[in-house]
Formats: sequence, structure tokens, C-alpha cells
Amino acid sequence: MFANRTGIRETNERTVLSVIVNEGPLSRANLSEKIGLNKASVSAIVKTLIEQQLIQEVGIGESTTQGGRKPIMLELNKAAGFAISVDIGYDYIDTMIHYLDGSTRNRKLLPFRTIEKNTITADLVTIIQEITAKLPKSPFGVIGMTIAIHGVVQNNWITFTPAYDFADFPLASELAQHFDFPILIENEANLLALSEHAKNNAYHNLVGISIHAGLGAGIIMNDTLYTGENGLSGEIGHMIVHINGNPCSCGGHGCLETYSSEKVILEAFREISGNPEAIIPDLYRAYVAKNRQAIQLIDNMIDYLTIAVHNTIALYNPKVIAIHSEISRLIPSFPEQIKERLPRLTAQNIELKTAQLGEEAILFGAAVVTISNFLEVPKFELK
Ligand SMILES: [Zn+2]
Repeated sequence: MFANRTGIRETNERTVLSVIVNEGPLSRANLSEKIGLNKASVSAIVKTLIEQQLIQEVGIGESTTQGGRKPIMLELNKAAGFAISVDIGYDYIDTMIHYLDGSTRNRKLLPFRTIEKNTITADLVTIIQEITAKLPKSPFGVIGMTIAIHGVVQNNWITFTPAYDFADFPLASELAQHFDFPILIENEANLLALSEHAKNNAYHNLVGISIHAGLGAGIIMNDTLYTGENGLSGEIGHMIVHINGNPCSCGGHGCLETYSSEKVILEAFREISGNPEAIIPDLYRAYVAKNRQAIQLIDNMIDYLTIAVHNTIALYNPKVIAIHSEISRLIPSFPEQIKERLPRLTAQNIELKTAQLGEEAILFGAAVVTISNFLEVPKFELK
């Protein structure tokens, strides 16, 4: 993990900053009470954080005791720097600039792109220079960038990408030659899980299932992202659902994603409808118009996802499974339809829903990674 630009933050400073970031605005007295650190120590740390321009004093709070002096409140200076998030899909590049509280400053989606290793570095450099050109002056400038990859990533290294040719391509170090901020690379389903976790701190065990060209899951166990020995954990798209079934990019046969990814369903719809340019909303319109073939395609997709959801619950017993896909956003009953198909044991032990942060969930997950690395806080919640 990267240290922030001020060096390694000491433990008490991290704690104070974490409480201000997640629970602010708070007074010095509130902080002292919540953390169990004496007021003099809290004041000294607050002074440092104000000098660093990471936090700021805002207005006057309510006095807590009768006749007591009204305290000055402290909050994160969210404009002290900016985080960049990038999601590289199989045919798009989605970007967002965030304030330090994770909120959006601006987003730019670039659809219908050719994604390949020969051009990606130059493409990203141009895009990032463009979106950062108009950023206002700030004490920390760009604090980092996290890139979502649709594939397997381990320790900032890409090892497998079925949707494009990035396996063993040193994307982070290529980009590092052009930018002076930390660049992190992470699997997109892991980022989905992190965004869902940061949005709801009651979810200590959760799984995010992301469905695009492929199908993957991010797993949070006891508030920690579980990535496995080689970054392969959560690759549920490669769960085998048919012996000797469809050939798969992983080298196997009968993998789940060859039956139920959005890309597979869309390709089938294009064939059936005779429209080679059909997009997901076209499939959705046919579905709500009760087109028999569209209903069959979606039903089929839900049947396969039910296998994935059931097996995932059997393995990890999460409190929540959040589904992230364009189809599930268009069909509000999508999670419920999966739940209705689950066997009793797993159906009664799961909250199944569409991801809270919508189509931008992956980008917010990337912001969580960048910002918590920069602030070095043990916990970072999205408001
Ligand atoms: Zn496979």
C-alpha cells in the first residue's frame, strides 16, 4: 500500500482522521469522547491535520451542556485533493473524478472503444490529462488513481483478462511513467463489493456479483476483501454448470459465464431479433412487451444466476448479495426472481438486491481504494 504524501500517519492521527471522515462534523470534545484520547492529545492532532489542510473548522455546533461554550466543529476538507477512478470494460472506458469524501466531481463515459494493450496507455494518458485539466488548485492535487479491470488482478498485476489482451501487461508501471500519483489496479467485482461495503456499514459479510461481458464476484468477509491466494477468489463466472459444456476463455468447458453473462444473452437476442446492433435496452423493451423469446432469454439467465447465488451462499453465507448489471437495473424484480428460485435453505438466509450505487458502483469502489490509501484510515464510508 502507498503512504500518503505527508509520510506514514501515526496511529492516533489515523484514528482521529477516520472518525472525522466517517462521522464528522464533530467537535474536539466529541472526538476525545469517541476515541478515548485526552483533549490535549486530540487538540494537538487536530492542529496538525488543519495545518495539512486535510480537515477544516466549520461553523459552531450546539452546546452540549447548559450554558456551555458552543464548540467549533471539524470536518474533512473534501476539496483538499481529488481521486481518479477508471473502469475499463470490454468496449468502454468510464472515468470519474471524486472529492476526498468519495462524492462525484465529474464523470466521463467513453463508449464503443477498442480496448487493447497496444493503445491503452496512450489512450488513458490523453483521457486523464483531459479530465484533470480543469481541476482547481488544491493542497494535494490528484491523490491517486484506481483502475478497474475485468479480469484477475493480484498485487497490482493483471494475470487474466478474457475481454481484452492485458494479461501480464504492466499497465500500472506504464502509466506511472506519465503521472506522479499512486496508480492501483483492482478487479472490478472486488471494487463493486468494496463500494457496497463502504455504502452500508451494517454489511460485514457481503458478496457483489458483477455481470457484463463476463461474470464475477467480490467477497467481503468480516469487513475485509477476500482475494484468495492468486486473486482468483470470486471468479464465479468460471463455476462449471455443465460437464463438457460450452468452451470458455479460461480453458474449461461449461462455465457459468458462457451461459449467463450479459454479453452472451445480448448476442443471443441479436440473433433471435435479427438486429445485430441491438443493445440491452432493446432486449428490455422486448421483455416488457412480453416477447416470448426475450422472456425466455431472461428467464434462462435468471435460472443460471440462481445456481451462482445458491452456491455462493453455500460457500460464504454473506448477509447480502448485491447484483450489478444493466439488465438487473432495468428489471427491478430481477433479484426477487432469483430469490424465488432458490432452495429454502439459501432463500431464507440472504438479502438479495441490486447494487446501491447503480451503474457507477465500480467507480465508487475505486474511489474507496484510492482515498483510504491516501488518508490511511482503517475505515472509509461513502455518504
Ligand atoms: Zn471458464
